Order: sequence, then structure tokens, then C-alpha cells
Amino acid sequence: MKFPLYLDNHSTTPMDPRVLETMLPYFVEKFGNAASRNHAFGWEAEEAVEQARKQIARLIHADPKEIVFTSGATESDNLAIKGVMEMYREKGDHMITCLTEHRAVLDTAKALEAKKGLKVTYLPVDKTGMVNPEDVRNAITEKTILISIMLANNEIGTINPIKEIGKIAKEKGILFHCDATQGVGKIPVDVQDLGIDLMAFTAHKMYGPKGVGALYVRKKAPRVRLAPIIDGGGHERGMRSGTLPVPLIVGFGKACELSEQEMPTESVRLAALRDRLQAGILKSLDEVYLNGHPTQRLPHNLNLSFAYVEGESLLMGVKEIALSSGSACTSATLEPSYVLRALGVGSDLAHSSIRFGLGRFNSEEEIDYTIKRIIQIVNKLREMSPLYEMAKEGIDLKTVQWAAH
Ligand SMILES: *Cc1c(COP(=O)(O)O)cnc(C)c1O
Repeated sequence: MKFPLYLDNHSTTPMDPRVLETMLPYFVEKFGNAASRNHAFGWEAEEAVEQARKQIARLIHADPKEIVFTSGATESDNLAIKGVMEMYREKGDHMITCLTEHRAVLDTAKALEAKKGLKVTYLPVDKTGMVNPEDVRNAITEKTILISIMLANNEIGTINPIKEIGKIAKEKGILFHCDATQGVGKIPVDVQDLGIDLMAFTAHKMYGPKGVGALYVRKKAPRVRLAPIIDGGGHERGMRSGTLPVPLIVGFGKACELSEQEMPTESVRLAALRDRLQAGILKSLDEVYLNGHPTQRLPHNLNLSFAYVEGESLLMGVKEIALSSGSACTSATLEPSYVLRALGVGSDLAHSSIRFGLGRFNSEEEIDYTIKRIIQIVNKLREMSPLYEMAKEGIDLKTVQWAAH
């Protein structure tokens, strides 16, 4: 085992060495600008970009012409939401999203509310983190022009009923954007089957390079139009100007190809490792709670709350394992995760949560080591916790009259 162990694959993934190998020639040797139409350097770069576009489109069952390259999923979410809300402004001014979206969606929606006076409905989720399609239907008004619901959540891994939501959007003639960043490359994603009109995803969450992402933009039934955020040379069908980062795009394409090939075995292997991790921890520790959906979740995600243990203290105790807690990950302040809060998880248990994000390069040995260390540190922290002791003695902490300071 090589330390520190990396179990934070929802934040970013290490790049697959096969991806790097594919990228290398495009830095020095094949350095052309894909927009240079007059010479071999340009043609070579363009061909590489178009090859990658095909690999990416194939993974999500799209046409290569429907892929718009961006700098990452944050930009893709911005382009989808701002682009639609501006382009279709004469049709309406209302958008529907949900409380557990990534900040790239929530902050974009908030900016539109504040600066452009647009109206946004933030749907609640159930205690497993799932959006109810009927809530989407009921939130639709005459003025609704966009629905934006994520495929799978980045903290708890819950997978939303996207197909049902896509059906409702289609039925009502409303555009449907999906932030699929955590799902693409990990679980099958078919934009036709799911009825998605716009979809954001990014290379660095699927073993590709950082700094490149894509927005799927439907071309037929309906043909989606977008107001660009960046004006310039009219690249990417005018939707996203700027010289394409050819090496990054080539890497993104390779990452998609590898994911397509390996997904059937990889998702099964990671789900088994994840289940092993969960079972190993739950077998030896009491008062550990699963956050998210028991079955409808990403195969490589596990989010647990360890009652009477501060998530941050737990992380400090296992510094040789890279994990994420539900407290600090979203901000510099120690606010508990807004995702867990939306599920109705109390502040105490939200502060006790740990996200395990497994990935392509994790081994069974690493998982067994993690189980052992988590049990050790949780037991140690609980030994020092008077609250845990009181609870074990059968005292109901909710009824305790604490002395005022
Ligand atoms: C990581 C992530 C993003 C942001 O992606 P970048 O490429 O880092 O900008 C957006 N949405 C979700 C769900 C994510 O997990």
C-alpha cells in the first residue's frame, strides 16, 4: 500500500496513466490550433478534437455535434442555465431546481435571482436525498423555461429519477438540464433514454485531466439554443468561444473510452468494495448511520454518520487516509453540509458525517486497512466522549437539563 490512501474520488480522481500517454504528443509535437484551417498543424489538431468528441458523445449516446467543450462542469452548468434563461427570456422567467444541487447550479441560480430578477423554485428532497418527480410537475408554472436536476449527488451518491423528470419536462415542453458530473463514466448515462436536453460533466471526475469539461446540447427535438457567456471567435458553434485545449480534450476523450470499456466490471468491483467497507464498519461499531439512499446510489459512494464523533476529529485521527467530512468540505466555516441538512439529518449527525469516495485505483487491501483504522479512531474518540458514555448508560440526552453557563 502506498500512503496516504486516496478515498476522496468525488472531489477529483487521479488521472489514468493511459490518459496521460494519449495526451503527451499534443503538448509539444502536435501543438496546432484546431481552428487553423490552412495547414497540417491545424488539421491534425482538429482531427484529434473530433476523435475525442466522438468518444465523449458515444459514452452518453449523443451525436458528436451536440458536445460543447468547456473548462469543466462548473462552466457547463453556468452555460446551460444562464444560456437558456437568457435565450428564452421572452417565453418565461422561472426555473426549477433542488436543494441538494452542487454549488455550480445553486450559485448560478442565486445569481440570476439577484441580478436578473428571475424566479427559482428549490425543491426539497426526501430523507434519502431523492427528488420526487411529482414535486417537479407541481412546481411548473406558465413561466417555467428550465428544469435543472442533478443525476447523482456528490456527497451522498443518491441517484435521482431522471427519466421520470425528463418525461415530465418533455410533456410540458420545458428544457431539462442535468448536472451528471458524478454519474458519467461510473453508471450508464443515455441522454436519449433519460430525455435530457442539456447535460454537464467533467474529465477530472472520471480519471481525465483537470480543466476540461463538456456541455451536451440537444440538436434535435428540440434544437436547444443558448446565449453564450463568452464571446469571441465563434468556436463550438458560437456557444463557447476560445481556442480549444487540444491535449486536455484528447485526454477527456480517452478517459471516456476507458470508462465505457471498464464500467461494467469497474462498477461491480467498486460496489463490492464499498459494501465491504460499509459492512466492516457497521459490524464493529454501533450508532453509525447511512446518509443517502440504501440502493439507488453511486456504486463507489458511502456516506456515514458516526454519532458522538466530530467528523473533523475523525479526519485528524486518520491523516494517512484522504477522506471528506460533511462539515468543512463546502466552506471555510464549519457549517454542516447543506445536502445533509436538506435530508433532514440533524446538525449533530451532519457534523459526524464522513464521505468515502472509492475509485479505479483502490484495492481490497486499502479498504480493509480503512475499516480497521476507522473502527480504531471512532472507538478512541467515543471513549473520550461523555455524551457517548451517558447514552450508553441509557440516559436520553434529549431530556437532560443542561446547566446554563
Ligand atoms: C465536481 C462537480 C462539479 C464541478 O466540476 P468542475 O469540473 O470541477 O468545475 C459540478 N457538479 C458536480 C455534481 C460535481 O461533483
